[in-house]
Amino acid sequence: MFDELLRELRRLEGTHKVSVSIASDADGYLDRECPSEECQFEFKVHDDDWRDTVRDEEVFCPFCGHTAESGDWCTQEQAEHLKKAALEHVQQRIGRAMNRDAENWNRSQPSRSFISMTMSVNSRPQQILLPPAAADPMRLKITCPACACRYAVIGAAFFCPACGHNASDLMFSQAIAGIRNALDALPSVRAAIPDRDAADTTVRLIIENGLQNAVTAFQRYAEALYARFPSLSAPRRNAFQNLKEGSELWNGATGKPYSAYIDAAEQAALIRYFQQRHLLAHRQGLVDDDYVTRTGDTTYRPGQHLVVRESPVRECLSIVETLIAAMASDTMTP
Ligand SMILES: [Zn+2]
Ligand SMILES: [Zn+2]
Repeated sequence: MFDELLRELRRLEGTHKVSVSIASDADGYLDRECPSEECQFEFKVHDDDWRDTVRDEEVFCPFCGHTAESGDWCTQEQAEHLKKAALEHVQQRIGRAMNRDAENWNRSQPSRSFISMTMSVNSRPQQILLPPAAADPMRLKITCPACACRYAVIGAAFFCPACGHNASDLMFSQAIAGIRNALDALPSVRAAIPDRDAADTTVRLIIENGLQNAVTAFQRYAEALYARFPSLSAPRRNAFQNLKEGSELWNGATGKPYSAYIDAAEQAALIRYFQQRHLLAHRQGLVDDDYVTRTGDTTYRPGQHLVVRESPVRECLSIVETLIAAMASDTMTP
């Protein structure tokens, strides 16, 4: 009775390719999202480069370096779009089969036991929602010096999506430029979000994100510079996230602690910023006893929430730039 339909359903079992196009933006860039659950970094890759330069087997997340096949980088919006298009395709085929049967078939829904479609859509932990008018000016466009792939990010980027290129000096300056770009765009971000509270929250997240990325950018470059001393054993993970520990390691390598490069006021400020990053990353921004003890920052009592402003983040950027440039020049001379 349902011969045609059953035949069609049997054909639908297994894997099917349905080609659905995903639109790129006005500049020809395609939205992508890191499939790593801890990351979910959103970025863009030029449509032509995604097709011609990026390899199917391996794509790199510009932020965390996670690698996955090229099919795994859809944004949640694109995944929804693909799911809908695939369902429509299936529904059309079933619809046609049912017409061919010309029988009394409950037309409401195809039985789910026949068609299984897997589409994992992750919940997003720390999402910054931005209207395009706010996101666009924050975006930093980058061309990889190694493979010429064009990509764009908001905030910091450390890897080329196509070839994984991560020359530490370039990635550092790129990350700092990305953070400054995002801070420069704050007025337009604010203007683009009509709801005052939502605008405040977004601006706060961007600033906090900038501080965290500034420390991460410093850490990664410092690790790379330290690795230029092959006789020294590798430091513990995240040692360069800690200023005191990093300075001791660097002193061991070069005979110079950080205090040889930056003055006391700059050191005190950096200690504060690195500790603030720690609070943002691990304590949801809540000030604890350790923070007050380590920084001597008496503007906060334990239990208060950190308030990170734009100008301190800019100060942090310029101090880490000064420090790391001096450290880098000390690795150049034989
Ligand atoms: Zn990632
Ligand atoms: Zn590249």
